[in-house]
Amino acid sequence: MSEAAEARGYDLVLKGGRVLDERNGVDGVFDVAVKAGRIAAIGKDLAAGARRVEDVGGAIVAPGLIDIHTHVYHKATSLSVDPGFISRRSATTTLVDAGSAGAGNYDGFRDYVMAQSPYRIFAFLNISFPGIFGFDKDVMIGEATLREMLPVHRCVAKIEENRDRIVGVKVRIGGPVTGELSLGALELALEAANAVGLPLMTHIGTAPPSYADVVSMLRPGDILTHCFRPAPNSALNADGTVLKAVRDARERGVLFDIAHGMGAFGYETTEGALGQNFLPDLISSDVHVIAVEGPGYDLLHTMSKLLNCGLTLPQVIGMSTSRPALAIRRPELGHLGVGAPADITVLKQVDSDYVFEDVTGAKRQGTTLLQPVAVYLEGRQMELARRPFEEPFIGSCGHDHRH
Ligand SMILES: [Zn+2]
Repeated sequence: MSEAAEARGYDLVLKGGRVLDERNGVDGVFDVAVKAGRIAAIGKDLAAGARRVEDVGGAIVAPGLIDIHTHVYHKATSLSVDPGFISRRSATTTLVDAGSAGAGNYDGFRDYVMAQSPYRIFAFLNISFPGIFGFDKDVMIGEATLREMLPVHRCVAKIEENRDRIVGVKVRIGGPVTGELSLGALELALEAANAVGLPLMTHIGTAPPSYADVVSMLRPGDILTHCFRPAPNSALNADGTVLKAVRDARERGVLFDIAHGMGAFGYETTEGALGQNFLPDLISSDVHVIAVEGPGYDLLHTMSKLLNCGLTLPQVIGMSTSRPALAIRRPELGHLGVGAPADITVLKQVDSDYVFEDVTGAKRQGTTLLQPVAVYLEGRQMELARRPFEEPFIGSCGHDHRH
């Protein structure tokens, strides 16, 4: 071993994978070196003298995946799933909870879930005081139907006390979730988001109010989640063109997030929007107690689905790493620049004959799947869980399919 190699003292080198790091403009075959939990170098031939070397030739080396729309206030809210389970299954290092908790019950989320988990968990705090309290397989009660349930001052105070983990305000808008209060709930949520200077994540559901009315109220940096929900009340006009209000919102800097969930991903909307070159900004799962069993399943599956819709691999990775990190204003995450925390997801892209399904039951024949290989959180290797719903098919050439 050369003196130079020894002096570098890397703890881990991932050797020879395709490194995809949108923030730093990297797409090529490189070694990634980790030291003391941080990215130490990206380059050629870094393995000499490293304590541990993993050959990841043929695999994709990405920043740790960030799922910007999840529900993981596990066991305290009926809709939430176990953050450890979902991180292991979808090769994710950062989970952002989308309003499971409100000001009235956030402390339990912080102390009993976030503080107990090795994964990075952030939250959009629901403008509704009890959070999403009535969501289960056969119970659905809206949390934003009454002004009394949305005390702005309580939401603001809770965020001021918890800026380390709370990254914005969440509101669900639409149909029975808001009832007669309708856009009034969105006004209150915007008042809170303005007061704390953070983004608002807004769920769009059934009308009223209309998709156009909701998206027109959002500010630059706010997130419209469930952006490609099926009609009625989708991002498309009856003639299939993208709504003018949607184009205007993008122009202002509003972000559009997939958030598949159980009701919010339709092929007709997605294919229509992509066909007019209207791409999402963010890919997320909206994983919860129902969506976790399909057809949304989790972030990795939703990424595969969009890959099969024609997005490129670098686009899909960027929308699930760099862009969500910037959307929650955590620029230290979602990239592999030297000095960044060594959150790394290693994936394989394999040939597959998996048949994908949207929330309306429409099916599409797939050709490719992303499968997890390894995950590192601050340089520490994390466990992975089996993906029982996907049967990858390795092509007849006998090796993995690469693009
Ligand atoms: Zn959700």
